[in-house]
Parts: sequence; C-alpha cells; structure tokens
Amino acid sequence: MSIINLKDKNLYYIGGVVRDEILGHKSFDIDITYVGDAIEFAKTIPDAQILQINEPFGTVRIKMNGEEIDIASTRCETYPQKGHLPVVGDIGCSLKEDVLRRDFTINALTKSTLTGEIIDYTKGLEDIKTKTLRILHDNSFIDDPTRIVRALKFSVRFGFELEPHTKKLQDEYLSNINYDMSYKRLKKELVETFNLNSWTAFERFIEQGIYKLIAPCEFTLPTVNLEELINLYNPIYPWIIYVGLLPDISNLPLTKSEKKIVDDYKKILNQVQNDKIISDFEIYKNFEGVNLETVLMYATVNTEVATRYLDILRHIKLEITGKDLQNLGIPPSSKYSEIFDCVLKEKLKNPELSKFEEIELAKKFL
Ligand code: ATP
Repeated sequence: MSIINLKDKNLYYIGGVVRDEILGHKSFDIDITYVGDAIEFAKTIPDAQILQINEPFGTVRIKMNGEEIDIASTRCETYPQKGHLPVVGDIGCSLKEDVLRRDFTINALTKSTLTGEIIDYTKGLEDIKTKTLRILHDNSFIDDPTRIVRALKFSVRFGFELEPHTKKLQDEYLSNINYDMSYKRLKKELVETFNLNSWTAFERFIEQGIYKLIAPCEFTLPTVNLEELINLYNPIYPWIIYVGLLPDISNLPLTKSEKKIVDDYKKILNQVQNDKIISDFEIYKNFEGVNLETVLMYATVNTEVATRYLDILRHIKLEITGKDLQNLGIPPSSKYSEIFDCVLKEKLKNPELSKFEEIELAKKFL
C-alpha cells in the first residue's frame, strides 16, 4: 500500500485499502479516516494546504509535500430512503461506529497510521483468510442493493464466495426488489464489475437473478462466451457489451455513446434474421458506423457474421469519393450512394481494387 506521509493516533487507513494490502493487491484509492473532526484536524497540520472542504460529510482534501490526501471524519449513516444515498448522522463518532456502516467485513478493516496495528471489529481478517463475503447486518441489502453487485465484483476479483446467510439474504432481496433505488450508484458498480470482463461474473449475474435489479424481466445466458472475444478485440466499454444484452436497461443512466451502442444492437437484431444467410455487402451495411461494442454484442447471436465483419470486412474501405464522381461530370444527388454501393459490392469481392479501378467501375455503373 502506498503509505501517506502523515501519522496521527486518531488517523486510520480504512476499507478497501487495508483489504488490498492484506491480499497483496494494488489499491487505487487510499481511504483515510480521522476519529473526530477531520476538518479541524487538517487545520492543525503544519505544512498542509487545505484544498477542499465538504462540511456536511466532514471530509477535507489537503496537499502536503506535493501529495493530495483526502481525509474523512468518522461518521454514522442511516438509510431513511432505502436504496438511495444514506443520510449522514453523527460526524466524529467512534471508529467502530464508522466501520459498522460499511458493506462487507473484508471492507471494514482499519489500520493505524501511527502504529500500523490492524483493528478488526467485524472479523474481517478471518473472512479474508477463508475468502468469504459477509454483510454486517441483515438489512444491508435492503438499505443499499448496490451491495449485491459489489459482492459480485469482489467475488470475481478476489475469488471469494458469499457466506450462506449473506447469500440467503441476497436471494430474499432479489425475490422482492424495491425498484425505487439510485440507478446512478447501481450503474457505477455494474461498470466496475463488468469492465473486469469476466464471463463467470456474467454467469452469476444471470443465474443468481442479480440482473433483475435493473428491471423486472427474464433473460437467459447466451451460449457464446464473450470474454475471449472482448480480450481479442479490446473494446473501450466492455461493461456495456454484457449489460446491454439485457432486454430492458432503461433505468440505467446511459451516456450518449452507451445508448447508441445498445440502440444500434437492437436495430441490427431487427434487421438481420438470424437463420438467413446474409451477403458480405449486407453485413457491411448493417455494421457500418456502429461501435465495436455493438458488433461484439451481436457476436452472441451470430459469431461468424460478427467476426467476419471485424476481421475482414471493416478493413475494406472505398477510395472513390464524391469529388471523383463530380470530376466525372455527375452532379451531386442521391445517385451517388447508389453508385458507391455498386462499387462497394465489387470491392468486397475484390478488396485489392485500386482507386483507378473503382473509378472505372463507377463509370460503368452510370
Ligand atoms: P474498489 O477497489 O473497487 O474501489 P473499495 O472497497 O475500495 O473497492 P470504494 O468504492 O472505493 O471500494 O469504497 C471504499 C470503502 O467504502 C469500501 O471499502 C467500503 O468500506 C465502503 N463502501 C463503499 N461502498 C459502500 C456501500 N455501498 N455500502 C457500504 N460501504 C461502502
């Protein structure tokens, strides 16, 4: 773990960073908690410049020796509106109370910045040893169902299993989901989980019914394992390839490009009948202009067509342009696209065609 250059008897590493250190994993975030008021504490640190204060949450960002450090005050949280952001209660509570608002025992470990001692109020160390994911109280998933996806993420990332009572509570929640929840938070966890590109994660997501958190619908696991294809073609947004396959993800707040990926996939599904043999020209036209992610989603329906496009067809490009047609004396009109399509059909049969030969073909089609 990258150690911060700040030590105090009330200052603790907390959560994922402690877990990752024990597991020998690299941590991206370092969460630090001050038992008491972190903002007041920050003001007393010599050589520290205060960059940002968030009074309602009791958090502060400081800069010290060129390093930016976020410090949180210990705090309690309650969930008056289940499934939504918690409400901050007592700021400056005890370390134990702060720990008890967390999701799993493995994420509830703390380590003193001063002595390096690990404080384990919830038997998280034992659960790390036995590779177990255990929630801290029976209402945990009701308070925050995104924890179900977090459990999936950790189970795949670390090879951990849900402890039986936790699994039972997960099943109970999934058979009675409260759809009034924060889909922004759910999406964040889905993105982190499925960007791991794990087919095992997707299998569990479907088989355990976790996908129903997004919308009440039915879905069966595709027979094509996407993990290898994703590794092979390296899309920018692996997560949407998995999640976008579900029949209804309208609850998730998607970006414009994510929405395009899913909409294009649905459009292609409607256009291409799976049992019909389609020509290279039809494949080309269907996938032209869509994102790689969409083509990979379609690979679950027809891998041969999708990989033919990705491996061969998408690299074939016409060289002839509208300018060339104008030079041939053809005034710009809808005729252009007809001519381009005719030339394209030939180019797909013979990708070696030169620009000169394309122009000769265009003349022929006039
Ligand atoms: P990752 O490595 O994926 O970032 P992390 O455990 O560090 O995992 P963060 O989302 O950075 O996760 O959260 C930091 C800590 O905050 C967690 O270790 C956990 O203690 C707590 N936490 C995060 N999300 C929740 C949640 N939904 N419910 C309760 N505690 C949470």
